[in-house]
Amino acid sequence: MNATPVSNTRVLLASRPSGEPTQENLRLETVSLPTPGGGEVLLRTIYLSLDPYMRGRMNDARSYAAPVEIGAVMEGGTVAEVVESNDPDFSPGDFVLSHLGWQAYGVQPGRFLRKLDPARAPISTAVGVLGMPGFTAYAGLLEIGKPKEGETVAVAAATGPVGSAVGQIAKIKGATTIGIAGGPEKVAYLKELGFDSALDHRTPLFREELKSATPNGIDVYFENVGGAVWDAVRPRLNTYGRVPVCGLVSHYNETALPDGPDRSAQLMSTILTKSLTVRGFIQTEFVRTHYRSFQEDMSGWIRDGKLLYREDIVDGLENAPEAFFGMLTGKNFGKLLIQVGPDPTR
Ligand code: NDP
Repeated sequence: MNATPVSNTRVLLASRPSGEPTQENLRLETVSLPTPGGGEVLLRTIYLSLDPYMRGRMNDARSYAAPVEIGAVMEGGTVAEVVESNDPDFSPGDFVLSHLGWQAYGVQPGRFLRKLDPARAPISTAVGVLGMPGFTAYAGLLEIGKPKEGETVAVAAATGPVGSAVGQIAKIKGATTIGIAGGPEKVAYLKELGFDSALDHRTPLFREELKSATPNGIDVYFENVGGAVWDAVRPRLNTYGRVPVCGLVSHYNETALPDGPDRSAQLMSTILTKSLTVRGFIQTEFVRTHYRSFQEDMSGWIRDGKLLYREDIVDGLENAPEAFFGMLTGKNFGKLLIQVGPDPTR
């Protein structure tokens, strides 16, 4: 990177959304460039990863992680280039996995960074298939879902980075795979990914189609979305079925419980009578035990053409809010990345 940076652009949380987030909740501003202190590194963002969990960080609610404060930079994983380094392990021009959030430049201690080798894999994959979303799929499916050969595994948001990896890993493990996505274009892509059945949850026939596609029921449902998909899947679950609860994206913008009778007793009864394992997880709990095998397995599967991935790259940090809002309703098609600055490796 030759140009000397002078200022930093960043996106702040301006106010907390109620329901669907809007442009008013986020504010773009330009400030002077931060200066790295001892052991710190000045970084230029190339890719910002947009992920559904960011919606939760906009709320002032207790969760597994603290909310973003009003006036603070929105949180997010990034792939960046080193501009200036006060850490002997990093030199200008190195590419790193970092957590700068929604900004064009940032400073982080070197000990928080992981160097990326562009010869090994495209650097963008460090926040996608070879990063947090890919790892979530790998650990959640294998550790909680435990698919066996011949079993049926279903997953929704199946063209996204988590769902697409879940389906393909399940296939590698010998399962029959049911991919669920929104719209005909995404459904066509699920077939390219090798799902045995590809279903559109937006059609009125979805429930019937799911029934026909699962004559032997469902043994593992990797829960990414909740809502109407979960309602359709629940009666198809087999005795001893496993449900890794990874995400509930259809509910993230809700401000109240849906109207209607309380159905929690019915749900508990299904769990009881079918001896289901329903287990929530946050991927970080598996990092120590599974990250190494994930890197080895996933890189190998990609290299051997057994696992495909798709990126949806939107140009410009100023377009991050719109792209993020769209992801929560299915407008993204693949791992959503913001190209914040040029990628010298492409
Ligand atoms: P995606 O890129 O798949 O984006 C979210 C997708 O959700 C949309 O593209 C859309 O796909 C689908 N969706 C949105 N609204 C609905 C709805 N009402 N009904 C059904 N589907 C809907 O996201 P990721 O792959 O990054 O994440 C998938 C899930 O994994 C999320 O719930 C996320 O929060 C969770 N997650 C959890 C982690 C953990 O540690 N537990 C870590 C990482 C992710 P479509 O158009 O196909 O419907």
